[in-house]
Amino acid sequence: MSLIVQKYGGSSVADAESIKRVAKRIVETRKAGNDVVVAVSAMGDTTDELLDLANEVTPLPAPRELDMLLSAGERISMALLAMAIKSMGHEARSFTGSQAGMITDATHGAARIVDVTPVRLREALDEGAVVIVAGFQGFNRDTRDITTLGRGGSDTTAVALAAALDADVCEIYTDVDGVFTSDPRVVKKARKLDRITSEEMLELASSGAKVLHIRAVEYARRHGVTLHVRSSFNNSEGTVVYDPERLPEGEAVEESVIAGVAVDLGQVKITVVGVPDVPGAAAKIFKIVANTNANVDMIVQNVSAAATGRTDISFTVPKSDGERSLKALSEAQESLGFESLQYDDQIGKLSLVGAAMRSAAGISAKLFEALYDAGINIEMISTSEIRISVVTRADSVNAAARAVHTAFELDGDADAVVYAGTGR
Ligand code: ASP
Ligand code: MG
Repeated sequence: MSLIVQKYGGSSVADAESIKRVAKRIVETRKAGNDVVVAVSAMGDTTDELLDLANEVTPLPAPRELDMLLSAGERISMALLAMAIKSMGHEARSFTGSQAGMITDATHGAARIVDVTPVRLREALDEGAVVIVAGFQGFNRDTRDITTLGRGGSDTTAVALAAALDADVCEIYTDVDGVFTSDPRVVKKARKLDRITSEEMLELASSGAKVLHIRAVEYARRHGVTLHVRSSFNNSEGTVVYDPERLPEGEAVEESVIAGVAVDLGQVKITVVGVPDVPGAAAKIFKIVANTNANVDMIVQNVSAAATGRTDISFTVPKSDGERSLKALSEAQESLGFESLQYDDQIGKLSLVGAAMRSAAGISAKLFEALYDAGINIEMISTSEIRISVVTRADSVNAAARAVHTAFELDGDADAVVYAGTGR
C-alpha cells in the first residue's frame, strides 16, 4: 500500500461541480488501494476576494486578523471536499492546519513551517479515512495563533505533509498539464516539460513562474520529496520535478540547455539619483531598505560622472515592498546625501533559466539579439549560474517572452491548454 499526497489548487475546486469531480479522483486513488492525504486550496479566487473585503474595511488590516480571515477560505473547501467523498461512500475527515500539526513560526502572512506533527492524520489514516488538510495555514506554539504561509502556500502544505508522512508520491494538481517552458497564458506555444530539475524549478519559481510556490520547491529539495505536477482536468502525465543527485542509479537524464522563460510583473524599480560615489554609500542605502524588510532583487549602479563624483543606483523590489522602501529612503535623504528618488512601477522582468547554462556558451548574446530583433529595450541585467534576467517596460515583457521563447527553439507544435482559473 502506498501513501499518496495530493494537492488541489483553487481553480480545481472553484465550485460544487469541481469539488465533486476532484472527490471522484480522490476516491479512485483510494480504491486503487492507496492511503490518501489531500491538501486543498480555497475555492477559486476566494483568497483574493477575502483580501479585497479586508481592504474595504481598512487599508491596513491587522496581520493576525488577516490570517484568521484568509485561513477561512481553505476551511470551506476542505469541509466540502470531505462531505463530497463521504457522500460517495468513503470515509473522509477534514483537518485545519493546526489540527494537522502544521507548526510554524509566528510571522503572519508569510509563516515558515518549523515542525509537522501529524498525529491526528495518522490516526485517521489508520482508521481507513481519506485525510483532507486545509492548505496554506499553520499554528504558532508561542503566540497560539493561526498563521498563513504566503500566497500560493498550499503547495508547501502538501510537500511538508509528504515529507512528514514519508509519502511515496506528492502530486500537485493544477489547471494546466504540468510545468511549461513558459506561462501558457502568455506564450501560447509554451511546451510542457516531462521533467525538470528542482534547481531549475526553484529559479523559475523565484523568477515569477507561478505554477509552484517557491517555498514548496525549496522544502521538497531539502527533504528529498519528488513532486509530480499534473492537471486535475485530465489524466495526462504531467511534469516530474526531481533532484538529479537522488535519481535511481542508471537513470541519468540528459539536461536540455534551457528549461524555460519566466515573466514577473510584480516588481517596481527605485532609482536613487545623485548618490555621492564614496565607499559605504551602497551599504547605507541597502541597510535602510533591508530594515523595511523589503526583498531586493536586481541592483544596478551607474558609472559616476567624473565632474560631479555622483552616481545613480537602481534596484527592484516586489510591488508590495515598494512604497515602504521609498518612504524609508526619502526620510534618510539628508544623511545619504542623494539628489532625488525615482519610482517606476511600469517594469517587467524576463528570466531565462537552464541548468546546462553553466557549460553552454553564447546564451546571453542570443538572448540580447532576440530582444533587439523584437525592438525591445533592456533596462537592467542580472545573472546567476543558471539564469539571466532582464528588466524591460511592463507593456513589452510578454512580447519579449514570446520572442525569446521562439529564439531558443522552445516553441511547441500546438497551443498549450489552460483549463481553468482566472490567473488572478
Ligand atoms: N488560497 C491561497 C492563495 O490563493 C493559498 C493557495 O492557493 O495555495 O494564495
Ligand atoms: Mg489560490
